[in-house]
Amino acid sequence: KTVLDYVSSKERIYPVGRLDYDTTGLIILTNDGELTNLLIHPRNKIDKIYVAKIKGILTKEETLKLTHGVVIDNKKTSPSKVKIKKIDKNQNNTDIIREAGRILKEGGLVAFPTETVYGLGADALNEDAAKKIYAAKGRPSDNPLIIHITNMKALEKIVSEIPEKAVKVAEKYWPGPLTMIFNKSDIVPYGTTGGLDTVAVRMPVDEIAREVIDAGGGYIAAPSANTSGRPSPTTAQHVAEDLTGRVDMIVDGGAVEIGVESTILDVTVEPPMILRPGAITKEMFEEVIGEVTIDRTLIKPDSKQVPKAPGMKYRHYAPK
Ligand code: AMP
Ligand code: MG
Repeated sequence: KTVLDYVSSKERIYPVGRLDYDTTGLIILTNDGELTNLLIHPRNKIDKIYVAKIKGILTKEETLKLTHGVVIDNKKTSPSKVKIKKIDKNQNNTDIIREAGRILKEGGLVAFPTETVYGLGADALNEDAAKKIYAAKGRPSDNPLIIHITNMKALEKIVSEIPEKAVKVAEKYWPGPLTMIFNKSDIVPYGTTGGLDTVAVRMPVDEIAREVIDAGGGYIAAPSANTSGRPSPTTAQHVAEDLTGRVDMIVDGGAVEIGVESTILDVTVEPPMILRPGAITKEMFEEVIGEVTIDRTLIKPDSKQVPKAPGMKYRHYAPK
């Protein structure tokens, strides 16, 4: 019955999980009685918010017992500055890329441009790092991340098998706006796959993205660099406005072209199935591997059927 996944102010995200569906008023206790930039997951129908001041700090256990409110400890929020590093395409940017790589390898978050939108990157093989993405974005924990790689050798390490048809599709459409679902290997943590035994993998074509991925160890989870519910960012400034304080570095590669999201193709089933439509169409796959089906919930939205790509139930937050 949990409907409220999180409440966040500009600086921090506060998970809450105990409101009932009919809750429309929310009490927020802060230790100075002030609250700015409050964001409530759009799924909730909260129309009244009461902010009050409390003395002292509640323990974590006490906080969890609250059924109609959340405690925000303003004293602990520190609106730190975010590092924005501009990439000059005519220059040698080794230092910036190396720094991004170091932060990623240490388990930090780096936002960087890809061919579609700015991505919020973390080491996909480090469970704690991947979890930071969910916290920073306020992303529901059942919406798995896509691992970004730059070469086929990397694919072999994170999947348990590569079906023949996937090889053919990869030869034709990778690098590019295509994500494929494979059975995962043991080194991929469940914190990255949202608890699934399958893993989503994409090989982007954008040069800056590829350099950041390689510098960061080669396996980078990177959903759009925005809080869930907000538009996907196409400039470094958008990312800074939305995520300052929750991201360690932003690689500024200028404005990205607003593209279509990657097509998601599940190659663990026979025939392969499209779970999210995108730039690469059914016909384009069929040219290479013959019959491909489409997740029927995409064709006939039906409240009883759950989409096979968990994130598709949050469609209204995707870029337009
Ligand atoms: P994005 O937020 O654009 O990076 O979207 C990631 C999409 O990939 C979401 O719709 C996820 O549900 C989907 N996805 C990621 N991993 C899997 C998986 N193992 N199986 C099915 N869908 C997945
Ligand atoms: Mg997104």
